[in-house]
Amino acid sequence: MRFIQYQILSIIASVLFFSQFVVGQEKVTFEKPYQIPAEMVKKVEKTDVEWLRELGPEKYKILRQCSTEPPFTGQYVNHKGKGKYACSGCGSVLFSSQTKYDSGSGWPSFFQAIEKGKIKEIADTSYGMVRTEIKCAGCDGHLGHVFTDGPQPTGLRYCVNSAALDFVPDESNNSEK
Ligand SMILES: [Zn+2]
Repeated sequence: MRFIQYQILSIIASVLFFSQFVVGQEKVTFEKPYQIPAEMVKKVEKTDVEWLRELGPEKYKILRQCSTEPPFTGQYVNHKGKGKYACSGCGSVLFSSQTKYDSGSGWPSFFQAIEKGKIKEIADTSYGMVRTEIKCAGCDGHLGHVFTDGPQPTGLRYCVNSAALDFVPDESNNSEK
């Protein structure tokens, strides 16, 4: 019985492994040349206790336990400042305000990541839905999901929890902080 369970698990694992490649290949069409491979992103690793202490319970629940903040409650839903959005877990810069748009979803939405390798995409079949989870490549923090109903030029909608982001205003743009 054990052996069969093992076999089933290894089949599931290899399906998941190869499906990542398929997703990866589809993305090539809109990738920009400046994008860096994920393995070049500096990794931040902490224990759960350390994360909880550092992030506080609210951010911990979202970043480390893949929770979702209620729509229209996050601080960056309607935020219009010019600058960058960094991961609130490790500070890795993930999005530019230039790619932020109003999706009407209730969560901050972007049509492109600042650099492809900084965000990991993982197939997520929880809650009976087929979605693509997005995680920070630097700290493995849960950010939200990416959908294919976004605006051009990418057609993507990176739907991100405000709690997973820290806004960093552009220095040259002091008037709009
Ligand atoms: Zn991070």
